[in-house]
Amino acid sequence: MRWLDALTEKALNRALPSRDEALAVLASGDDELLDVVAAAFRVRREFFGRRVKLNYLVNIKSGLCPEDCFYCSQRLGSAADVLKYTWLKPDEVIASAEAGVAGGAKRVCMVASGRGPTDRDVDRVCGTIASFKDRHPDVEVCACLGLLSGGQAERLRAAGTTAYNHNLNTAEERYGGICTTHGFGDRVETVRAAEAAGLSPCSGLIAGMGESDEDLVDVVFALRELDPDSVPVNFLIPFEGTPLAGEWNLTPQRCLRILAMVRFVHPDAEVRLAGGREVHLRTLQPLALHIVNSIFLGDYLTSEGQEGSADVQMIADAGFTVEGAGERSLPEHRTDLVRIRRRGAGTTLPANTALPADSALPADTTFPASS
Ligand code: SF4
Repeated sequence: MRWLDALTEKALNRALPSRDEALAVLASGDDELLDVVAAAFRVRREFFGRRVKLNYLVNIKSGLCPEDCFYCSQRLGSAADVLKYTWLKPDEVIASAEAGVAGGAKRVCMVASGRGPTDRDVDRVCGTIASFKDRHPDVEVCACLGLLSGGQAERLRAAGTTAYNHNLNTAEERYGGICTTHGFGDRVETVRAAEAAGLSPCSGLIAGMGESDEDLVDVVFALRELDPDSVPVNFLIPFEGTPLAGEWNLTPQRCLRILAMVRFVHPDAEVRLAGGREVHLRTLQPLALHIVNSIFLGDYLTSEGQEGSADVQMIADAGFTVEGAGERSLPEHRTDLVRIRRRGAGTTLPANTALPADSALPADTTFPASS
């Protein structure tokens, strides 16, 4: 398996594989599956050891979305019988988030349905996040509120938000086939805006929507261009009542190959096994832990996952450990690459001001208050 050895070496050196190498992972046969998993594990172990980061979803506004994403049970016109409610009260959000923290979650992901927040929505979420961070300063908070407009990312950051999630979902060329109310470019813009505001970018994909291997490689390479810190990999749950109902075309083996391909293209990013893991990986879930270094604990936005205690047991049974609050998630070299923005919106410096490497600022630079 010389091709696999060469691919592994590249990943260990954080070098981008070729498209053909990524396609070869997806095309590998069942006889090669454990070799592929073992190779991906070498990369995972190099950057993340045997740690598994737990994330906990809180659906702070559910259903009734005006957008038409074909894969989503909350879309316009969805006949899926999912929970529908408007913004939860801050106390309800915090109580739910605390249940996740008690279960071992290091990151809480606060997610709202909708095209994107109004400024008033952002005020509301910022207030909730600030209250939560007062009580749990060590817990990371990721916001996922849809497309962001001017200044919203900066306000979320100032309230204590750690990260922002907005997935690319599928290849740019296929985007019109899974959503007509916004485009791939809109999503890219929001991920960039979040990163520019100092939020840790989180962006991933959904597999199993009828895409080809080439499409999967396209979106995973597009993500590499954005270089998110975390890459959630969802496997489509084809809800009855959505246009993609009946798209049951994933096998556990295919899921493992997809995860391995993502790991080789994003060797030192947090690759997170997200929605659909229980229904598509089924009994092979523990093998996936050899590839990913992060999972969601318990339930998803509109569907139930396995019990959180079963997740924790599975991690222990497979010989992995839950990552603690004090432990570094990303390898040091990644955080060293990040420079917190000190110019542009929210400062007195123009956006493209060249700053010295040590970030020493001109004496007259001013910043707004952080709350
Ligand atoms: S993915 Fe988000 S924007 Fe698209 S329909 Fe679902 S809730 Fe709305």
